[in-house]
Amino acid sequence: MTSSRLIVEAENLGKRYHTVGTAPVEVFSEVNIAIGEGELVALTGPSGSGKSTLLHLLGTLDKPSTGSIKLEGEDVLSFDDKALSQFRNRRIGFIFQFHHLLPEFTALENVAMPALIAGESLKKIEPRARMLLDEVGLKDRADHRPGALSGGESQRVAVARAFIMQPALVLADEPTGNLDLKNSEMLFDLILGLSRAHTQTFFIATHNIELAGRADRTMHLEGGKLR
Ligand code: ADP
Repeated sequence: MTSSRLIVEAENLGKRYHTVGTAPVEVFSEVNIAIGEGELVALTGPSGSGKSTLLHLLGTLDKPSTGSIKLEGEDVLSFDDKALSQFRNRRIGFIFQFHHLLPEFTALENVAMPALIAGESLKKIEPRARMLLDEVGLKDRADHRPGALSGGESQRVAVARAFIMQPALVLADEPTGNLDLKNSEMLFDLILGLSRAHTQTFFIATHNIELAGRADRTMHLEGGKLR
């Protein structure tokens, strides 16, 4: 549901990549985005249209060539590296196409990892990590390492991990891209349900138009413009 509080405000965003010896590549320009608290917005567009690039900019992993980005009203482009990594750790959750779980840690520890990085103790964060594992249907897998989980299960652990810090925004880049049809639909349903239950703001890049149609709103990136 949309509320009056804006989580993402991006204005006139543009991104150009400069590679030595080649002409600069302009991925997109004049991109404006406003996302309210609790909204689940899907980003569609063909491969190479710049979806990952846009997610990287909003995730403060890269800087735009033009424009401004406010997250929770904060001008994140003015932050120094330390403030930025702290903001990213505490306020942004990430889900990628591949789960990127740490193989030597259990599912529970992987879910807790952003909190451990933020300096919290496992003891303190464990109840929330267990609750989230329960919510993604993996209560009985808390002590399993990623090697003992299926692709779909691993991705559900990654979803739980994205929620652990109660971030302002979760960015998901093709979260179902590595799953078969049945698991893709299950994961998308899970994300929709959790987003509503937690009033969690989501921005999800996907080229699955059918899944995108179930989001609160869809944005389409093509030919360097967002529509
Ligand atoms: P999508 O996620 O929609 O597939 P990307 O954001 O990955 O699109 O890529 C958009 C365009 O930017 C592509 O043409 C890609 O080759 C180019 N690109 C992405 N990252 C870089 C980079 N680090 N340097 C140069 N070009 C890049």
